[in-house]
Amino acid sequence: MINGMDMLRVGIYGGTFAPIHNGHVAAAKAFMEQMKLDYLFIIPTYLPPHKQVDSSDDPWYRLKMCELAFEGVDGVVISDMEIRRGGKSYTYDTLKELQRPDTRLFLLCGTDMVLTFDTWHRFEDIFKMCYPIYVRRENDPLITNRIVAKIGEYYQKYGVMFRKVQMDPINVSSTEIRRAVKEGRDISSLVPPGVERFIHENRLYLREEQSDE
Ligand code: ATP
Repeated sequence: MINGMDMLRVGIYGGTFAPIHNGHVAAAKAFMEQMKLDYLFIIPTYLPPHKQVDSSDDPWYRLKMCELAFEGVDGVVISDMEIRRGGKSYTYDTLKELQRPDTRLFLLCGTDMVLTFDTWHRFEDIFKMCYPIYVRRENDPLITNRIVAKIGEYYQKYGVMFRKVQMDPINVSSTEIRRAVKEGRDISSLVPPGVERFIHENRLYLREEQSDE
């Protein structure tokens, strides 16, 4: 018996994590606590081959930074399944891989992802395979209205209710961190200390970003 029930509660939090930052870490911890997860899988995506890859985009660096960010946090599993799978990283494939009869899957995404969820590969199947959860990453009231409308639409069209993880939003993005590093600004308040050290030691994010062409 697990948690007094017979189902294992497993969370999934995917992303590029280039790099992982304090917003991701806070969201992951709130997700674990509030959904009473037994395990949380942090899953960095593989970058599709048609993208120009510079050393900063190396998926193994991104994975390593996830490990550093969650060092010592019980129940968190940093998974290389999407990197090993290669090609485009579809959440549908990841859910398929983690699905088990004794497991209830919870999928976390930030607000930007909620708004575009219905463009994801096989999103209707995804709805059937997990409990979708979202977390706010900003306080903007205009976005609140859009989210409320979108969540209502998902409920009406697909009978799916997104649940919310509560936390004080940490309004930071990986893009902002890459920019700060390139400009030589301090990032110690934006990423965990191990991640900051890793970025500097490996001289990540110093070059111009490559385009997707
Ligand atoms: P980029 O700036 O490169 O687009 P990002 O900061 O949005 O990156 P991702 O790795 O693309 O980070 O995000 C992975 C997941 O984490 C997504 O579901 C995203 O919505 C969520 N997320 C990103 N930043 C935050 C934040 N500050 N708070 C909560 N969730 C976040």
